Amino acid sequence: MLTPYHSRDIGDRIAHTLGHALRISGAAIVEADVREISLSFERGVGDQWCIYLFDSAPGGSGHIASLLEQQELWVRKALELLEGDAIHQERCREACLACVLDSQSQNDFEQGKLDRAIALEFFGCKVSV
Ligand SMILES: [Zn+2]
Repeated sequence: MLTPYHSRDIGDRIAHTLGHALRISGAAIVEADVREISLSFERGVGDQWCIYLFDSAPGGSGHIASLLEQQELWVRKALELLEGDAIHQERCREACLACVLDSQSQNDFEQGKLDRAIALEFFGCKVSV
C-alpha cells in the first residue's frame, strides 16, 4: 500500500489501520478465526508502505488466495468495518473493539498506530480524485 502524499507518521497509521481492517474483514469473509490470517508491515522508500497479509498456517490455508479472488468485496468490507454505524462513528476516534482493536492490534494501538478517521479520510480523498 502506497501513501504518497501523507507524512510518515500519518502513512504509518493509515497502513496499520488498513492492514488490521483487511485482516479482520478478510477472516469474516472466509469465515475463519482472525488468527488464521497474519499481518506484517514494511516501510519502503519515503512514505511508501507494504502491507503483507498471509495465511498463518504453515503451507497456507487458502484464505488469502480466496480473498484475492474477491478483492473488491474485501476492501469494501474493510472500509465498512472502519466506518461502522452512526453510533460507532460518534464514539470511535482511533480504534475500538467494534472495528480494528483486538489482541493482534493492541500493540499497534498502544503505539498510536491505529487511526480509523485518518484511514477513512485517506480513502475518501483517493476516491474523489
Ligand atoms: Zn471503532
